[in-house]
Amino acid sequence: MAEIDLEQEKQDILKAYSSMLRAAKHAKKDAVTKKRMRKAFDVAVEAHKNDRRKSGEPYIFHPIAVARICAEEIGLGATSIICALLHDTVEDTDITLEDISRDFGNKEALIIDGLTKISGVVDNNKSIQAENFKKILLTLSEDVRVILIKLADRLHNMRTIGSMRRDKQLKIASETLFLYAPLAHRLGLHSIKSELEDLSLQCQEPEGFEEVQSKLKKTEEVRKRFIRKFSSPIKKILDERGMEFEIKGRSKSIHSIWKKMVKQNVPFEEVYDLFAIRIIIDSEEEMNEKSDCWQVYSVVTDFYQPNIDRLRDWISAPKANGYESLHTTVMSPTGKWVEVQIRTRRMDEIAEKGFAAHWKYKEGGAASQFDVWINQVRELLESNEENALDLIDDFKLNLFTDEIYVFTPNGDMKSLPVGATGLDFAFAVHTQVGVNCLGIKVNDKLVPLSHQLNSGDQVEVLTSKNQKPKEDWLNFVQTHRAKTRIKSSLKDEKREVAKKGKVLLEKEFKKLKISHENISLKELQSYFKVKSELELYYQVAIESIDLGKLKGLEVRKGVLQPKRTIIPKRVKTLFGQRKPTQTAPMKKPVLVIGDNMEKLDYKLASCCNPIPGNEVYGFITVTEGIKIHKTACPNTVQLMSNYAYRIIKASWIDENDVAFLTGLKIIGIDDMGIVNGITQVISNELSVDMRSISFDSHDGIFEGRVMVMVQDTSHLTNLIANLNKVKGVQKIEKIDS
Ligand code: MN
Repeated sequence: MAEIDLEQEKQDILKAYSSMLRAAKHAKKDAVTKKRMRKAFDVAVEAHKNDRRKSGEPYIFHPIAVARICAEEIGLGATSIICALLHDTVEDTDITLEDISRDFGNKEALIIDGLTKISGVVDNNKSIQAENFKKILLTLSEDVRVILIKLADRLHNMRTIGSMRRDKQLKIASETLFLYAPLAHRLGLHSIKSELEDLSLQCQEPEGFEEVQSKLKKTEEVRKRFIRKFSSPIKKILDERGMEFEIKGRSKSIHSIWKKMVKQNVPFEEVYDLFAIRIIIDSEEEMNEKSDCWQVYSVVTDFYQPNIDRLRDWISAPKANGYESLHTTVMSPTGKWVEVQIRTRRMDEIAEKGFAAHWKYKEGGAASQFDVWINQVRELLESNEENALDLIDDFKLNLFTDEIYVFTPNGDMKSLPVGATGLDFAFAVHTQVGVNCLGIKVNDKLVPLSHQLNSGDQVEVLTSKNQKPKEDWLNFVQTHRAKTRIKSSLKDEKREVAKKGKVLLEKEFKKLKISHENISLKELQSYFKVKSELELYYQVAIESIDLGKLKGLEVRKGVLQPKRTIIPKRVKTLFGQRKPTQTAPMKKPVLVIGDNMEKLDYKLASCCNPIPGNEVYGFITVTEGIKIHKTACPNTVQLMSNYAYRIIKASWIDENDVAFLTGLKIIGIDDMGIVNGITQVISNELSVDMRSISFDSHDGIFEGRVMVMVQDTSHLTNLIANLNKVKGVQKIEKIDS
């Protein structure tokens, strides 16, 4: 065995300590604090003087390394450094909490107590594991530094896991993946999360890890070339504008590539090029940050076509873990979608290092998003009476995937994916609730069905038996569950309607003395260009196929085609016995947006209330999605000149429909049922389409504004008469703008 040079070791320990101090750029360094840190170091050295790690090195290197991670990689200050240096003393040495409290203070003792309690959180017994998990979350609500130091501790243990016994390695790696990586993610510590995952993978699947790592290295040059080419025109413009910035490519982590390969059963070659391009701006002032980011967005999308569905604005509304960034996905010249992340240096720091990095910018800042999250966790824990296993299931859902949790009026919690809408919630409660969903109240306010929910929202669903799923619901629901239920319900409804079409067609056949031998359904399908029998009957029922045409058709050369004889016009009208204005279901005007004429979710601007037929355009707002303005809107000039990059094409299709948008102001006595009553009346009214609705109540007086699309004035009069019958309604005024 090699001789240990104790003197040399002492030197090395001191060296490690002072380089840790140098790395602690954000810690207070006044004489008193310095002395306290040194004292913690001395106490730890003394306490661990006889301990060595499995690798053989003196144990004290570990607490120093943990303190360094806290300071350098998480951005924590002196208190955390002191606690990190002492973090294993109470558990492993003769030092007691009383000693810590006496020599360093109560806060420090509390944090170290927390750290001691949460050691050994993960156990083979699943329910003990769950209990421990609950414990770790509870300590989190005492002082978040407990978790942050614990994460630093775990990171260092993972970095030095090589010298442990294989079975221990595997146990530690799996609890890291199970608990610590998701926690790091939830706390916004992105670099630490990725490193923990990569290290765990390296331990669990050494060959897979090696494979991905070496292939990433081999393909690096190709990626770099692509990034250079992609960013060069953007770079040129930004340089010309005198902006300070950095552009880099971020490939996915080894762990996430590996996971994808396994999950989708695809080779590395099919996932290796998944990466994002990140543009980091050195904004001069915090107040310029937002406009700087949008300016860069504008430059990027000048060169590359963006996918408007993939625009994510986490600058106006940061994620719960503090993440701020502007994401867009654009089409590269090689036809590949590329994600571009635009953010400032400050935002990047938070994204990589988490909120602690943020605290140094906002010294003593008030309630941050982070505090909000901690509070939610605390409430969740305190209100949770059920056993720990259920809790862990609920909570882990939120940790692993980006999920939100919302509450029913009774306080039941539902987990939904981020981006889920009120309608998704309704379907999550029960299929029937979703199908009959008429309105959504979030925290007691009525919102559109497409309203995106946030964690902590209390959501109430208003239903009506007469409500049925609409085609456009598919445009905004997020969950698989809602999508499939809506589709199947639409199909059922189509079948119902098609039945009527079948009857109509048979009648017409009889009348014209056509038999199925003369004209087969197949021939009809191909003549009217419909895909299926169901579709044929359906089109007949909704009168999109004019049965009047049948009379003039004949089968020639095996193909159904117009008769050669000229049919007098009046024959057509003879057969068209239905008066189209009376019974024809109103075809809804559809607004299509963007170059691809997609049906996107939109709102009509209240400044100009566009109606079908108007020349319109879309404006991408920061918080309310796409708003549709008339080209003739008084705000157009201002919007187009200042925000040209946020303008998007929009046009109405099927302009022939006569329908107009009108507003109603409803005043009444605030009563539990009034909103429901009003929305029911509107939805029961045939051919009336509710475009927007907002309610306000103050001092017992209820005031609602509803924008409805009506077909003509008699419809409107009818609607107003029926609204007047709703209990509590006092007065209805037409508001025209
Ligand atoms: Mn430790």
